[in-house]
Amino acid sequence: MADVIKHKCETTNCSNPATLQCPTCLKLGIQGSYFCSQDCFKGFWKSHKAIHMLAQGQGPENNVKSGAYNPWPFYTFTGQLRPWPQTPKRPVPEAIERPDYADHPAGRSLSEEKMRGNTTIKVLDDEEIEAMRVACKLGRECLDEGGKAVEVGTTTDEIDRIVHEAAIERDCYPSPLNYYNFPKSCCTSVNEVICHGIPDARPLQDGDICNIDVTVYHHGFHGDLNETFFVGNVSEKHKNLVKVTYESLMKAIEIVRPGVKYRDIGNVIQKHVQPFGYSVVKSYCGHGIHRLFHTAPNVPHYAKNSAVGVMKAGHCFTIEPMISEGTWRNEQWPDDWTAVTKDGQWSAQFEQTLLVTETGCDILTKRLERNGQPHFMDKM
Ligand SMILES: [Zn+2]
Ligand SMILES: [Zn+2]
Repeated sequence: MADVIKHKCETTNCSNPATLQCPTCLKLGIQGSYFCSQDCFKGFWKSHKAIHMLAQGQGPENNVKSGAYNPWPFYTFTGQLRPWPQTPKRPVPEAIERPDYADHPAGRSLSEEKMRGNTTIKVLDDEEIEAMRVACKLGRECLDEGGKAVEVGTTTDEIDRIVHEAAIERDCYPSPLNYYNFPKSCCTSVNEVICHGIPDARPLQDGDICNIDVTVYHHGFHGDLNETFFVGNVSEKHKNLVKVTYESLMKAIEIVRPGVKYRDIGNVIQKHVQPFGYSVVKSYCGHGIHRLFHTAPNVPHYAKNSAVGVMKAGHCFTIEPMISEGTWRNEQWPDDWTAVTKDGQWSAQFEQTLLVTETGCDILTKRLERNGQPHFMDKM
């Protein structure tokens, strides 16, 4: 009869049988924090202690306004949203194929950096196109899984856990994880966050809008998409922002076919959103995507841009407009990722990965249910 291992060491990539429990966790009533040795416990302390902050910050008495957790006392926030504690980095099983940046200490992608400044757009062959179709379909499945969890009280960290596990179940590496040291497996961007929000222990609140941006890496190719979701009862004002943002993406997709200039996409998007008084974020753009996560072409979403390149059959790229209620200007939280509006008004986003075909384009990350309509429309 084999020995039964009751608990495994919590240290990433250790998983030795473990019997030592973290004394702080015991005091706080956190279950299941086991380590195999004092060495592992000390070595993993920096990541592990986030769990303690999380447990202490989670109670309703420590809500956003109490300021129980404020890592940047020197920073003036532009809106109401605040950062909450993050959980430790989630491991990815060794058997899953990893992009080059996954194991770089600074998360740098040397394969991408080699191509920086090069505006040549790769034309994918049939085999590469098939690989993109598969990666994008799997990415879509992961986003749908994460989206199912969106409701009042769910933390964005829980959404991240679901996306992370959905990716692993599908033999995918969650592309954002360690990309230039991004700490999580997807981006969750709430309310005034434009993009690149880091999943954390904040429970979603009634009336929030939350974008989930998922990219997966499967057998050497990335598939990238995002949707903005409604949390509980969203105001008509914010519902309209989300709806118009989605429409602007679909209108842009309509013009995609061989011979069209990449710079024309921004004209279509801005023309659609401007009459509502909304603005187009300029600092973040769509991008070429295939074996590289972000590469040529650069695809601005604002009008009168000077993007380089003409669409050809076999190009793969994203369109992902970020549309704000007020100013188009953004700034970054001191975490060096979270992009927020300068005026604290809200911002929405939708993204699809597209393949240019002979006659138009295929939306590789299209939703397979409900005739492709985004999740928020189920609740309009
Ligand atoms: Zn994305
Ligand atoms: Zn993208």
